[in-house]
Amino acid sequence: MSYPDERTPQEWQAVLNKEQFRILREKGTEAPFSGQYDKHHSEEGVYTCAGCNAPLYKAEHKFKSGCGWPAYFDALPGAVTRHTDSAFGMQRTEIVCSNCGGHLGHVFKGEGYPTPTDERHCVNSVSLKFSPDDPETGKSEAK
Ligand SMILES: [Zn+2]
Repeated sequence: MSYPDERTPQEWQAVLNKEQFRILREKGTEAPFSGQYDKHHSEEGVYTCAGCNAPLYKAEHKFKSGCGWPAYFDALPGAVTRHTDSAFGMQRTEIVCSNCGGHLGHVFKGEGYPTPTDERHCVNSVSLKFSPDDPETGKSEAK
C-alpha cells in the first residue's frame, strides 16, 4: 500500500514520541481506559491524525461505547482506509489514516449500538489529536 505521505520509519521516529510510533507505525494498541480521549466529549471540533494532522473524525461522530477506547460511528469521507487484519487468528477490519497509513484501530459492525451506522471505529487516543472549532477565526470551516 502507498499513501500520499510517504515518510520513512526514520522520519516518523523523529516526529513521533515512542508510544505514537509504536501504535501508528507498528500497529500497537494502547491499554483500555488509559487514553486521553476515551472519555473526551465535545460538541464541536475535529479529531486529526497524530502523525500527519489529516482530519479524521468530527466531534459529532464520537459516542460512548464503554469499550475503553474512543469510539466513532463514522469518519470524514475518505479519511480512513480499511484493511482486513488476520493477526492473532481473527478476521478484523483494521483502519488506517488514508493520508499517511498510520494505524488507528479497528472497525466493528453490527454490535447494536444506537448509532446511525451500527459501526464502531475503535481508535487509539494516541493516534489522535483533538482540535476544537474556533468560531472567532473560523479556522475550521468544514461543517
Ligand atoms: Zn495520518
